[in-house]
Amino acid sequence: MDLAAGFAGRHVLVTGASSGLGEHFARLVARCRARVTIGARRLDRLEALAADLAELGAPEVRAVELDVANPASVEAALAAAGPIDVLVNNAGISEGRPALDVTVDLYDAVVDTNLRGVWLLSTAAARAWREAGQGGVIVNIASILAFRVAGAVPVYAASKAAVAQLTAALGLEWARYGIRVNALAPGYIATDINSTFFETDAGQAMIKRIPMRRLGQPSDLDGAFLLLAGDASAWMTGTCIAVDGGHLVSSL
Ligand code: NAD
Repeated sequence: MDLAAGFAGRHVLVTGASSGLGEHFARLVARCRARVTIGARRLDRLEALAADLAELGAPEVRAVELDVANPASVEAALAAAGPIDVLVNNAGISEGRPALDVTVDLYDAVVDTNLRGVWLLSTAAARAWREAGQGGVIVNIASILAFRVAGAVPVYAASKAAVAQLTAALGLEWARYGIRVNALAPGYIATDINSTFFETDAGQAMIKRIPMRRLGQPSDLDGAFLLLAGDASAWMTGTCIAVDGGHLVSSL
C-alpha cells in the first residue's frame, strides 16, 4: 500500500508550522499534493514556507495567524482556512527547567499550548465536521514523555500524557461521527531547537541510551505520520504510536 496515496486535494491544517516538525509535516503533505493550511502566531514566518509548499506540489496553500491557546484565534484561523479534512495538532512548547524553577505563568503557557490548544482545535474541527455530516482525521503530536519521564520537563511530560489520554477519549466519543483521533509520540528528533544540546556531553550520553544509538530525523516520522493522517489507518482510532528508535523500551 502506498501511504502517500489519497492525499491529493485533501485539505490538511498543520499548527505550529513555522519551524521543526510542523514545517516538515507541511512539506510532506504538500509533496503528496494535499491542499495545505499552515498556522502559526507570526504570519511573516510562514511566507517563505507557503511559497515552498506550492512549489513542492500543494495545489492550494494558506497561511493563517493562529495562537492555539486562544479560543478567538482558533475560531478565526479555522474560518480563514475553510473546511479541512485533516487536523495536525503539532504546536507545542516545553519549560526546560526543574519543577521548582517553573513559575505559574510558565506552567500555564506549557499546558495551554500543549493541551488546551489540542482541545480547542479538535473540538472546533469536530463540531464543523459533525455539522457538515462528514468525517475527519486528527493527528496529535504527543511525545515519548507521555509515557516516561526525564529531568527538567515535568509540565511538558504531564501535558503530553494528557494529550495521549485525550486522544483516546476523543477517539472513543467521535468514532460515531466518522472522526478518527490518533497520536504520534516521537522520541528525540534532531531539530533546530535541540541541536546544541545534543552536541554537549549530556546530549551525547542521552543518544547512547537510545537502543538504536542515534537521534531521529524528521523523516523518520514520515511512515507513521502518513499512516495516521491517511486512509491506511481507516480502522484505527484512539491510539498513540511511538517512533523513537526503541527509547521507550530502553533498559531500566
Ligand atoms: P519547534 O519549537 O520547532 O516547533 C513548535 C512550533 O509550535 C513552533 O513553530 C512554535 O512557534 C509553535 N507554537 C508554540 N506555541 C504556539 C501557539 N500558542 N500557537 C501556535 N503555534 C505555537 O519544536 P518541534 O520539535 O518541531 O516540536 C513540534 C511538536 O513535536 C511539539 O508538539 C513537540 O512537543 C513535539 N515533539 C518534538 C520532539 C523533538 O524531539 N523535536 C519530540 C517529541 C515531541
